[in-house]
Amino acid sequence: MSILVTGGAGYIGSHTVVEFLAKGEEVIVLDNLQKGHREAVMTGKFYEGDIRDQQLLDRVFSENKVEAVIHFAADSLVGESVQDPLKYYDNNVITAQNLLAGMVKHGVKRIVFSSTAAAYGEPESIPICETDRKEPTNPYGETKLAIEKMLKWCDQAYGVKFVALRYFNAAGAHPNGHIGEDHQPESHLIPIILQVALGQREQLAVFGDDYPTADGTCIRDYIHVSDLANAHWLALQKLRRTDMSAIYNLGNGEGFSVKQVVEKAREVTGHPIPLKIAQRRAGDPAVLIASSKKAQQDLEWKPQFNSLEQILQTAWNWHKNHPQGYGK
Ligand code: UDP
Repeated sequence: MSILVTGGAGYIGSHTVVEFLAKGEEVIVLDNLQKGHREAVMTGKFYEGDIRDQQLLDRVFSENKVEAVIHFAADSLVGESVQDPLKYYDNNVITAQNLLAGMVKHGVKRIVFSSTAAAYGEPESIPICETDRKEPTNPYGETKLAIEKMLKWCDQAYGVKFVALRYFNAAGAHPNGHIGEDHQPESHLIPIILQVALGQREQLAVFGDDYPTADGTCIRDYIHVSDLANAHWLALQKLRRTDMSAIYNLGNGEGFSVKQVVEKAREVTGHPIPLKIAQRRAGDPAVLIASSKKAQQDLEWKPQFNSLEQILQTAWNWHKNHPQGYGK
């Protein structure tokens, strides 16, 4: 039986493919390569195409015995989602609906879904627990939450069992040095800081220093991408073991402000990394920190790269050796 990974050529997807292969799973990747990189996929079986394409899904499900789907393929930029919400409903919600229809049609009953901390919106308390209020402040979080709800009803109606994983801030790169983060254009904090360290940008624009935090900059919970990848495999084990749906936060439980991340990156890279203070970015909550107790207990998940320094060091290793990402 195979595991179908949608969006397996993307940042978190490609790290998850490596993790599943290391665990001896048979992996098939489906990716439209709009954002993903073919070079990031270390497995043989690759389908290039879109999950909107029901005929392609029929082909993938007929040509392979698919036990479960790990569903990454989506758009994931908070700012862009505020500018163009319909793009997010189309690329996230409609595609998930199509994928689920394909799964139901072909009798595939397990799915691990990439959800997000953005589903909570402005948190009611810190750290955030899975049962806390969910009022997304941007369409990205809203569409991911809509898919979680779609999954719940599909479980009830068709017996499709799911684990939704609410990621906090994925960061870092595989310690093997072969895969890492490469978005075009880049919008994420850590890769942008490292591009400054590489001399590819002059400075970092800090989006707001008037938030209600100690230094005025936003606080996020950075979690290493390989630890996220491992959680997906553990989530599949949980589905295999219990056949019960569940939702988990995945984070380190520790928050760092934008300025603290920059400070640590200065230590790791030895570069001064100049800053300028810019406008707040629409849709950004001040503080997001996870409680991942539930995942640690139920999934026996133990993050291995849990210091900001390890996260920055693996990311720096990737960026230094691949200054143009997968491009050149
Ligand atoms: N950020 C920033 N400057 C940048 C990119 C990001 O100040 O050029 C801030 C952003 O406002 C947020 C944090 O860094 O508070 C992490 O942003 P990122 O886009 O990496 O992840 P997100 O929190 O949107 O998932």
